Amino acid sequence: MRTPLFVANWKMNKTVGDSLSFLENFRQKKWREGVEVVLCPPFTSLAPLSQALRKEDRIALGAQNCHPEASGAFTGEVSPFFLKELHCEFVIVGHSERRRLFHETGEFLAKKVEAVVGEGMSPITCVGETAEDRKAGDTWKVIERQLSEVLGRVTVTDLEKIVLAYEPVWAIGTGVTATATQAQEVHEKIRRWVSSEKGKKVADKIRILYGGSVTPEVIGHLMGEEDIDGGLVGGASLKVDSFLQIVDYR
Ligand code: PEP
Repeated sequence: MRTPLFVANWKMNKTVGDSLSFLENFRQKKWREGVEVVLCPPFTSLAPLSQALRKEDRIALGAQNCHPEASGAFTGEVSPFFLKELHCEFVIVGHSERRRLFHETGEFLAKKVEAVVGEGMSPITCVGETAEDRKAGDTWKVIERQLSEVLGRVTVTDLEKIVLAYEPVWAIGTGVTATATQAQEVHEKIRRWVSSEKGKKVADKIRILYGGSVTPEVIGHLMGEEDIDGGLVGGASLKVDSFLQIVDYR
């Protein structure tokens, strides 16, 4: 049984004040037992949220990015070691915006995954095809390449810490959600890939989130699929009500 996981990716939105007032409001709500909730605010809000969060909130903290090195001459970067100090439990790695806008390669992302796991945190490792890839019939070819680039060398023990996220690029921030069938088809292949590369035991355990225009209206359908274990949510995580409805899906 895999615990459903819902991750709010606020991207470059919300000041410290906005982040704290979201938490103040959200923590008073009730949502179903047995799900995990993670907030990934901008770096500037991590320390204040970390201080404000209490165990009974049942909310974990995650970062949107990191650098693979622990410290050193990397102006503007933040290391997994520093994120750990703020009690982050998750770090998003390989979001398509990082790949596309900041030219992050599979090789670089593999180092980040290793560094995040090395600090005892869970990388939320994103893969996904563009609209052109899909049109050309290359969806699986692209995803398989991304999986082997980033996870090819991780050990089974490390993989147990990792969360995967299937985020079709054409669905991110577009309002076009993949259908539950489209998403399940890829999730099932991802799980099969993990099984054949790393073994069935870890494949059965690993959580595979769907991301791409998730809304309260579609989350129930997505969660009805066997291999969809939660959501990585951008736009709809910015408002307490819509994120709550997603976490508390029916
Ligand atoms: C994301 O940022 O990972 C994402 C899926 O965004 P949105 O939900 O807005 O499509």
